[in-house]
Amino acid sequence: MEETKVKAIVLGGRDYKEKDKLVDLFTLEQGIVSVLFKSVKSANAKLKSAKEMFSFGDFIYATGKFNVVTSAEIIDTFYGITKDIKKYYTACMILEIIKCVLPVGEQNVNLFLETLKALKTVAYDNADNLTIINKFLVVVFEGLGYKFALNTCNTCGCKFMNYRYMNLEYGDITCHNCKTLNSVEISVGEYSALRLISITEFEKLSTLKLNGEVLNKLFNLLCMNFEHRFNKKLELPDILKT
Ligand SMILES: [Zn+2]
Repeated sequence: MEETKVKAIVLGGRDYKEKDKLVDLFTLEQGIVSVLFKSVKSANAKLKSAKEMFSFGDFIYATGKFNVVTSAEIIDTFYGITKDIKKYYTACMILEIIKCVLPVGEQNVNLFLETLKALKTVAYDNADNLTIINKFLVVVFEGLGYKFALNTCNTCGCKFMNYRYMNLEYGDITCHNCKTLNSVEISVGEYSALRLISITEFEKLSTLKLNGEVLNKLFNLLCMNFEHRFNKKLELPDILKT
């Protein structure tokens, strides 16, 4: 039987038959792949922890009608995530976003690496959770071809003066002259938060101290853009609203 080895993050799973679990893996090599963990529901099952959401490691599976996992070596379980309810919801949101934007079987190396960085930041850093989610949305737009132009209007190329608008039809930022009926104004506060979040790596996010209300508004703006790009609505759990 042919075996495939992948580096992957567990996106989540559901019970299958009595003792098995069907799990979605976000793999470095093949994007999202569905695999089967056999007999993992008993307390002493060998692969028990490997099937848990957020687990990151090397997985080997036999390819067939079901891709049956034969071994797994976990590199990181992102332990901190399950110890803090806000961190848990933040990490769930990150995985949810991946499931919304990435078609099954489509590889995206950059997005895989950014997802790992995001989960690490959630688990081990002291960064604000909503800042991490906003950063992840910016990274997702970038990774899928909708990078924001932050200095100049994406339509006419002129330098931004006072007003900036999110053009929801194209997912970019324009000046006052180039706004259309599908544009939403970005306030100065939202813009400066967006700018800081865009240029700050995940590893440094904990150094940003941004206003909670601005972060909520920025999230709503990015969500509108997300909905127009990917046809999916994101809901921020109440516990993460600041
Ligand atoms: Zn313009």
